[in-house]
Amino acid sequence: MSAQLLAGGPVAEAVLGEVKQRVDEMKAAGVTPGLGTILVGDDGPSASYVRNKHRTCEQVGIASHHHEISADAGQQTLLDAVRDFNENPEVDGYIIQSPVPDGFDFNESLALMDPAKDADGLHPMNLGRLVLQEPGPVPCTPAGIQAMFLHYDIEVAGKNVVVVGRGPTLGRPMSLLMANKGDAANAAVTVVHSRVPNLADYTRNADVVIGAVGIPSFITPDMVRPGAVVVSGGISWEGKKLLPDVDESVGEVASWITPRLGGVGPMTIAMLLRNTIWAAEARMPG
Ligand code: NAP
Repeated sequence: MSAQLLAGGPVAEAVLGEVKQRVDEMKAAGVTPGLGTILVGDDGPSASYVRNKHRTCEQVGIASHHHEISADAGQQTLLDAVRDFNENPEVDGYIIQSPVPDGFDFNESLALMDPAKDADGLHPMNLGRLVLQEPGPVPCTPAGIQAMFLHYDIEVAGKNVVVVGRGPTLGRPMSLLMANKGDAANAAVTVVHSRVPNLADYTRNADVVIGAVGIPSFITPDMVRPGAVVVSGGISWEGKKLLPDVDESVGEVASWITPRLGGVGPMTIAMLLRNTIWAAEARMPG
């Protein structure tokens, strides 16, 4: 492998260090910030993501709140959990872990959230703020990838960035962040997806390729221009093995690549906790 590693760990540590400092300050002022999670069904990876989120909360001193809903409980139970967190003053920010099982309407539950407590930045109002380039919580994985570009001094402005995938949690907000004004932004962005034939024609011309698909090894060396920066945001699982969208062999061609483990994942949690702290600070009196 000749590429340098875009490791999320050190960047996440720096973000969590800042988060912890702000938590300590809030606690000194008598406020303990709280993060809530709503987990629906028994999807193994989702349960593990939620556990990791709470474990990291504990490390930085954020209180955890949790609703676990069985796959057959029905949409009203999910909406009740959302209402509970909206009203609970100890919950500053919360998430509804996606995907939710068939029979649940994720978008309806998002729309019912108090946008001020939307720690994932997925409420329609907050996605609207991203489009309008107004301050607000930004979806955690794209925000984490952008923070990695900043940390590793990877130039994005004016570059040709291709995002593979247009899903709501990653591909779509990623493309907006990259095209918006700001640091580690101002890029020329192309979004490709399952209805684009010959999408390698696009990725091969990119300075930066961001996988947001969720298909193992979807991006292969022949799809990447030598020297490009290649990020695997999309992941999938084979049993307990995490499989990124970007094949490991792309490391022979790229200048930077995310490692299979410790790439974007740690950043997602760090940005979630940062969103939670921002929400808590906004709710503090005075
Ligand atoms: P999603 O809703 O799962 O959508 C996947 C996207 O991939 C869609 O736009 C789809 O195209 C596209 N796609 C699927 N098959 C394709 C193909 N053969 N060729 C080209 N494009 C194809 O997206 P998401 O919710 O944004 O999540 C994307 C990925 O991010 C998932 O793997 C998820 O696990 C991962 N993720 C990772 C983290 C992390 O911490 N690393 C956090 C959150 C999400 P169409 O729109 O045409 O169907």
